[in-house]
Amino acid sequence: MSGGLKGQVAVVTGSGSGIGAAITHSFLDAGASVLATGRRAEKLGRLGEHQSLITLVGDVTEPDFADRLLSRALDAFGRCDIVVNNAGVMWSGAAHEIDIEHVVAMVRVNIEAAFRVAHVFVRHFFTQNTGQIINISSVLGTKVRPNTGTYSATKYAVEALSESMRLELADTNVKVTCIEPGLVITDLHDHFAIHPKDALGLKQPLQPEDIANIVLTVATQPDHVFVPKVMVLPKHNAI
Ligand code: NDP
Repeated sequence: MSGGLKGQVAVVTGSGSGIGAAITHSFLDAGASVLATGRRAEKLGRLGEHQSLITLVGDVTEPDFADRLLSRALDAFGRCDIVVNNAGVMWSGAAHEIDIEHVVAMVRVNIEAAFRVAHVFVRHFFTQNTGQIINISSVLGTKVRPNTGTYSATKYAVEALSESMRLELADTNVKVTCIEPGLVITDLHDHFAIHPKDALGLKQPLQPEDIANIVLTVATQPDHVFVPKVMVLPKHNAI
């Protein structure tokens, strides 16, 4: 897929680690210019140097941060074609036991920030009459399991946003895609007492690069091809 995004500009949220970092590298390899963003500068620094990579440190839940991201991309690269709504957090626990502040954190990052980013970037894509928004949901945006229902609720919101935008943007050249990964080995579950791969008995979970490959495939389709939704699971994962 080398060169498939030549001349295009992408913004990837939550790009200092995991899936966002893998998407950033694959977009750069495909010729895109990328604005990478996250809260921690040292994580963004681990992306390494690249002539087509810039970073912006900040909290994507801040009300003006989506506007700042778009302005930074336009100032540095003169355009913006793709935004990947990837930043996310996950806490688990039964709905009546989970720390309510962890629920609020998930709502703020997984829903509020995703909606803010979509709101700003889609209006920009309208003005240039082209663009792609790629929302990273989860297989847990399509089903609920005990103890992950609050996280699921946030990803159901991302699914609803993606589906409503798909309908609202049908007559435009703006595409919206919702990606639904199964278990990927990243920092997301570092604070879990029992890692989900052990809880699920998964021998070979996905790697961030597996999701990045799918995202790149979606992002490099010709104008007339539209991929509204992709679920990506580890083989042998009977969900
Ligand atoms: P990581 O923890 O590696 O990445 C999440 C990123 O989001 C981090 O780089 C983090 O950076 C950033 N982030 C979190 N909160 C904020 C915030 N308030 N402002 C800005 N950035 C923030 O996990 P993943 O790569 O796994 O997660 C990426 C996405 O994939 C998430 O939306 C997650 O829900 C989804 N997903 C993951 C799956 C998995 O099994 N891993 C499965 C299905 C979906 P920093 O802390 O520096 O801000």
